[in-house]
Amino acid sequence: MTRSNTTAGPDSMITAVGTYLPPWGAARRRTPGLDEDAVTLCVAAGLAALRSVDPADVGRVVLVSRDLPLIEGSNSAAVLAGLGLRADTEICEVIGGAPAVLDALTGAAPGTLVIGADTSPAGAAAAYCGTSGAALTASGRITRSMPVVTRDAFGRRADYADPRLVRVRGLGASLDQLDRSVPIAAAAGLAGRDAKSVCATEPRDLPTEGPSAALFALATLAELGRPAGQMQRLLAVEQATLGLADLGPGEINVQRDERAPRPVPSGTTAPGSEMSISLAAYERAFDAKLRLVAARCRRCGTLAYPHRYRCLGCGSEDPTDAVALPRDAEIYTLSTIHVPVPGLVSPYTIVVAELGDSGVRVTVRLTGAAAGSVGIGDRGRLVFRLVAVRSGVPDYGYAFLPDDDTEVTA
Ligand SMILES: [Zn+2]
Repeated sequence: MTRSNTTAGPDSMITAVGTYLPPWGAARRRTPGLDEDAVTLCVAAGLAALRSVDPADVGRVVLVSRDLPLIEGSNSAAVLAGLGLRADTEICEVIGGAPAVLDALTGAAPGTLVIGADTSPAGAAAAYCGTSGAALTASGRITRSMPVVTRDAFGRRADYADPRLVRVRGLGASLDQLDRSVPIAAAAGLAGRDAKSVCATEPRDLPTEGPSAALFALATLAELGRPAGQMQRLLAVEQATLGLADLGPGEINVQRDERAPRPVPSGTTAPGSEMSISLAAYERAFDAKLRLVAARCRRCGTLAYPHRYRCLGCGSEDPTDAVALPRDAEIYTLSTIHVPVPGLVSPYTIVVAELGDSGVRVTVRLTGAAAGSVGIGDRGRLVFRLVAVRSGVPDYGYAFLPDDDTEVTA
């Protein structure tokens, strides 16, 4: 089945782009941490994109991934909670690759946050479409079938592994059907040699090949700086399906949450059954846990996290106000556990972290650093992570990420 559309669509304005790479693995081939999945990757990239945006301006979120953990639903609620967006924000989950991200971006109304997430290689990126920035215009699309890699409903993968067929009858035949009068500045979804063959100049390596690749390419084009008044053409590829879009002049705020890569820590796991989930307890704790919200006593102002029926400061049982807790944190005390337990890789470090100047302390796991590599008084921030997977249900919450001078800043 072939569909071709070279009619230019309406412009959308890309205001900000945020990127996130897990700290594990090789520079251009990252591995998700054991406490990461497509949902936590989406949250990290979305928060990076929203650093310069008022969350109240976000009216719609589009998640594009082929790796969302809950195919039957509930990913969206976790992403909205992790991003700190209202639960009535419109959100849609799209199964797609890099061309689907271009479609979501070029058709986006102001106030739309588009996030793409990949788990192998791992990375996520997001773009906020607002009323300022650089225009992105759809300039071509072709949808063709060339299922060289397959994954069925049971997760079984197969790779047809015929690079010549892919190049000639997949990518090549699809490119022949598109308008090639404008040179391509960046290609998302293609590995090194194929990206070089279609780009007019030496392309920058991108860390992912799925939906987030289109957004990483956008970040790279925005950072490279564009000749005044000139547009740049972006190609997005998934198998034999292609999308083209033109990025106009204008400033895009790029925020990268990317640290230098390090080897995945080794550890041991214990055999045995893991704790099963209580969905009633999961539901009760969901908002406070995923939104990091404390209850403030209306009488004396004491904060309680998690919420308590009776105030610890004055004993009041009156209703409380929900207040968001600060994310910046300092290690109050910690312990590194070496005893293997089912469901966790040991050793692991648990820290009691004091949040900003709130006086609230939370007990969370260390993330993004080897167990035992931090000490009392170290500073960092709380980040949205997978706490456990119980009975197949991802249980999200927060972990302590220590400050690190290898962080890339835009
Ligand atoms: Zn009180």
